Amino acid sequence: MHTTTHSIAPLPVRVPPQPWEDLHSFLTRTAKQMHYERVNQVIQPEMSHFRIASSQVSLLAERADYRFLSDLLLLSEEALYQMTLHRFSAPFKHLEYFPVIKVPSWRSGLTEYLKPKIALHHDPIERPRLQRDLHRTFFLPNQTTQICPLCLQEEVAYDRLYWKARYLLTCHKHRLLLLRHCPHCSRRIPSQRLDPTSCPYCRHSYASTVTLRIAPEAMGLVSGDQLTLRALGVLPPLDHPSIPLELNDPRTLLPPQQYIALLRAFCISLHRLQPADVQSLLPNAFTAFLHTNQLFQRPYPDAVPPLQVAITHWIFSAWPDHFLAFLDVLACWSRKTKKKHAFDNFPHHFLLGDLAKDALAIVSHAYQQYQPTYSLQTLEHRIQEHLDACNTASSSSP
Ligand SMILES: [Zn+2]
Ligand SMILES: [Zn+2]
Repeated sequence: MHTTTHSIAPLPVRVPPQPWEDLHSFLTRTAKQMHYERVNQVIQPEMSHFRIASSQVSLLAERADYRFLSDLLLLSEEALYQMTLHRFSAPFKHLEYFPVIKVPSWRSGLTEYLKPKIALHHDPIERPRLQRDLHRTFFLPNQTTQICPLCLQEEVAYDRLYWKARYLLTCHKHRLLLLRHCPHCSRRIPSQRLDPTSCPYCRHSYASTVTLRIAPEAMGLVSGDQLTLRALGVLPPLDHPSIPLELNDPRTLLPPQQYIALLRAFCISLHRLQPADVQSLLPNAFTAFLHTNQLFQRPYPDAVPPLQVAITHWIFSAWPDHFLAFLDVLACWSRKTKKKHAFDNFPHHFLLGDLAKDALAIVSHAYQQYQPTYSLQTLEHRIQEHLDACNTASSSSP
């Protein structure tokens, strides 16, 4: 029950929270410091009737839970809140950025948006909160995470809160692909690991075999992720485009919510392409990198396959050329399958909310340059030409 709080004596030994630490990680380090065998001994202590389910930790909302942890760990409500995913709630506040169905106005004009179920809280904290359903769309399942094995080699090994973002693929510091699964037993990486550096199921070290270094042809993933980290508030916003790495990416100066809405809309527009379609779009070296790192694996159990995020960043890395090539591949797919795609009758099927005006302007402007050629042969020829040009460019660069 969350209704009563008895004050509880603080733990005799505690650890200070680290920058951007995930509350799961913080509770785990606390348990380790206390020589507990399980993390739940912290949030479900024997000497109290008070219980916090570990499934609640990422989205902790009840005032009583905060009071309990404050007493136990001698931390303020603010410090605890900053370790939950609610910290990222700002760009997800207005749901009108995230349509799930768009019906053109000449038909009925009804657009439906992501709709979180109303969570029934007894006495929630008075701070902005991330809704449960949005959590599922934008963040990894509550009790799992992804990791950078090199970040975990640093003096204090702890999980970063932002690693839970589904749309994040790389560590911007070490330029590595983040790991979502143990490279030995393929199990998901749980948030609560008493030894953060090794797999609790098979005991192998996460760092032992994998080399996830980003190949030069995939560096667009790191700069794309830097924009994602800016949108989430992890990296400081760019007031003026002074950093050359992202200069060519038209998303650089978008407000956070519009950036996230655009990233989501592009990922959804890639949903139906098959691996063969994708290979006719991407240069060989980039495809090989994605294959080596198993980003082509299907079926991918996640709501947002990392492959779609990777392709989206690639599309924006040479704007609008890559986008125009993408439209060719979509048109080709559409003719072969006789199905409609996200850019048919643009912008009526593209799942970007009308509120994302700047983002829509970027795409509309490029779309106006697109010249569809309504013959499959010509289209295929143009796709091949683009691919040859990409491959030559990447093989001649140092
Ligand atoms: Zn790292
Ligand atoms: Zn394992």
